[in-house]
Amino acid sequence: MATIFSKIINKEIPADIVFESETILAFKDINPKAPVHVLIIPKIEIPKVTDLKASEHSLLLGDMIDAANKIANDMGIAEEGFRLVFNCGDNGGQEVYHLHLHLLGGRKMNWPPG
Ligand code: 5GP
Repeated sequence: MATIFSKIINKEIPADIVFESETILAFKDINPKAPVHVLIIPKIEIPKVTDLKASEHSLLLGDMIDAANKIANDMGIAEEGFRLVFNCGDNGGQEVYHLHLHLLGGRKMNWPPG
């Protein structure tokens, strides 16, 4: 089912886009939880992590990690470190059911997460 992220992909609503390729879009989170908070999403509609098949989606997952590393480098947080997070389902804290990888950085992250 289409979510607000499909509207961002289709440029029907604005977003602060930091990276785009044929398969991936990355944009700043509207409600950032860290100085750097970027969402990296596939352009195809996959609701959540449990809908992924590693064998089928390996290239897409690789593209998402490559994008995260590139953005972390571009934003100057690669050296000091960062966190990559997939929230999955209710208990995972997922609000938008279009797969997205959170890239968080620019401050020390807490562990365990809340
Ligand atoms: P989730 O909780 O599903 O893992 O994360 C969804 C994220 O999407 C949240 O951090 C939320 O702030 C962000 N978000 C929700 N709607 C929008 C939007 O319209 N634009 C942007 N840039 N971020 C959004």
